[in-house]
Amino acid sequence: MAKQSRDNPMINTIPNSVLSTLYEESKEQMSWLEQLDITEHDYSYIEPFIQKGYADWKQEVHGLPELTGARWFVANHLGDIVESDGLVQSEVSEAVTACIQELNVVVMPLEQYRIVAVPVLTRSKEQLFAVWGCVMPEDANAAASSVWVKAAAYHFRTCFYKKVEGWFVLDLLNIQRQAKREEHRRSILFQVVQKLHGKIDVDSILTEVFERIAGMYPEAKVELLMSQDHLSRDPRVKPLILHGEQDHVCVRAFMEGSMLRKEVWGDEGKPCIEIAVPLVGKQGAYGVFHLLLERDKVEEVDLQLISMLADTAGTAFENAKLYEQSNLLISELRLINELTKRLNQSLRPKEVFKFATEELLSIFKAEYCCISQISKDSECFKIMSSNIPAMSKAFFPKDYGFSGLIYSTQEPIILSDYQAYGKISSRMMEETGSRALIAAPLIVRGEVNGVIMLSHREERFFSYENYKLLQVLASHIGLAIANASLHAEVRRMANRDMLTGLYARHYLDDTIQEFQKKDANGSLIVVDIDQFKGVNDTYGHQTGDQILKQVCSIITSTIRKTDIAARWGGEELALYLPGASIEHGRQIAEMIRLRVEQETKPCVTVSCGIAEWKRDDDKISVESLFYQADMALYKAKNNGRNQSQIG
Ligand code: GH3
Ligand code: MG
Ligand code: MG
Repeated sequence: MAKQSRDNPMINTIPNSVLSTLYEESKEQMSWLEQLDITEHDYSYIEPFIQKGYADWKQEVHGLPELTGARWFVANHLGDIVESDGLVQSEVSEAVTACIQELNVVVMPLEQYRIVAVPVLTRSKEQLFAVWGCVMPEDANAAASSVWVKAAAYHFRTCFYKKVEGWFVLDLLNIQRQAKREEHRRSILFQVVQKLHGKIDVDSILTEVFERIAGMYPEAKVELLMSQDHLSRDPRVKPLILHGEQDHVCVRAFMEGSMLRKEVWGDEGKPCIEIAVPLVGKQGAYGVFHLLLERDKVEEVDLQLISMLADTAGTAFENAKLYEQSNLLISELRLINELTKRLNQSLRPKEVFKFATEELLSIFKAEYCCISQISKDSECFKIMSSNIPAMSKAFFPKDYGFSGLIYSTQEPIILSDYQAYGKISSRMMEETGSRALIAAPLIVRGEVNGVIMLSHREERFFSYENYKLLQVLASHIGLAIANASLHAEVRRMANRDMLTGLYARHYLDDTIQEFQKKDANGSLIVVDIDQFKGVNDTYGHQTGDQILKQVCSIITSTIRKTDIAARWGGEELALYLPGASIEHGRQIAEMIRLRVEQETKPCVTVSCGIAEWKRDDDKISVESLFYQADMALYKAKNNGRNQSQIG
């Protein structure tokens, strides 16, 4: 009792109807209530009950004739008047003090009046907690009056205890209500914890928390401000702008990692509380819940609940994030493994570029892709592969656009909105109306060899994870492209003669063999420089080499792209003309011969032997074709050189 009676705000609000109902309906069950008592510890708080008890008593005895002319009072345990019919302290002091000291009824004369003071005792320990009294005319029956006053004191005590009991019951009800609310909150928290930890995707955790808060505080305005890396597709999730907003309650809560609140005025002029609770896990803060609640509807425990909810959400969010990240990592590794395996299956650069473009478009769900490479002369970027027709095979200066930026910084790029950026102009972005971009360098032996660019018309389309993944994939694609290019170069070199740039003999042999399998005919011209030994002797070997090169370039510029020119050996050259008749071969040989005579410096001449194979020949082979051409050449030499002969 002592505990509950302190600072209770309900004392003055006990409705009599509640009291009587309580008494009537639960008389039997309430016997425990009648044993309820106050102790000395409660004395300093009971004055309102004395006042109320006095008022009730007054009402109940109103109109009784025996009380005419009597003036009543009640004093506290110290003897100070609490309520009276206009009596002053000095009038009653003496009698009240005596009553307190003697713990008995005191009757004293007071001029032409008489004063009666009766101790009012507690129920169980019978300790004095008030003094009841009355000042009445001297002529009244002393004995009868004293009985009356004692009865009235007893009556008052009943009224007093009624009030105390009523308050006690309401206090109990209040505690019970609080406990129920507390239980409700706990059950919400328990459900949330259970639900949140059962979820493994980040978005559904955020949705769950939103729904819980909305369920508890339907009028509350709730939003979640997330740092850049954790944006969601939920419209209630917005970016947390840190830059230049240090004083904002959300930014401060995010930085300090603890809940902050601020008293504000709501839109309708109602007093509100603005709350910022960070979404924090063990590894850091991810965002801030921002709530606006009407002040009247929030208690301290609500704030604790919101804070606990945010804590739980933070941990669950972090777990889900880690789970997502590890899943992402596994699928990324799988992807990288798969991609590199497939990239390395092809050793043709064209195929690698095409394959990489297709894969990147599908992996990142990008709309457009361009892969460029620094051209051989290192002067510009050439688009090697793209799904944008207007861009294919285009050239750009090395310092142009995003490729230019990547070339100079060697760093990848992520751009959420090209339109808002405006610092760099990009043909790819303009051409396609793209807004989001991720791009990464293709680095080979520490140098930027090319650039991968992926774009989408939707702003903020690519995530930070996309950007990191592209960086990883770009290094593998760069390596695959370098391998394929190197392989192509080796292949080219293996089939070519170093000095003249013509094909090597084995390549010509193999090619003729292939043609002989499928064609109906073809012609071979063997070209031999006349008296070349003498040229070397006269001008030296180096000049000899130059002349050899001149002859070769005359040959390549005379023949068609489909014809094959090779260095047969020494200063002997051979041309194969697929599908050409011997007559056609002779014309070509003559054109070459004439041009050599006219164009070489120092001037040399050549002799040519021409032979043709046909499908209906007895024997079709590379050797016999060469043999015939050689024979014709021999004829030309014997005939005085600088001429063409057919075999
Ligand atoms: P012919 O008119 O009978 O063909 O006379 P020739 O001197 O050209 O013929 P021969 O076969 O006797 O000599 C070929 C010469 O070609 C010998 C060699 O010094 C020269 N030669 C072969 N390959 C090269 C080369 O790569 N560079 C230079 N400078 N000379 C070469
Ligand atoms: Mg010769
Ligand atoms: Mg020769």
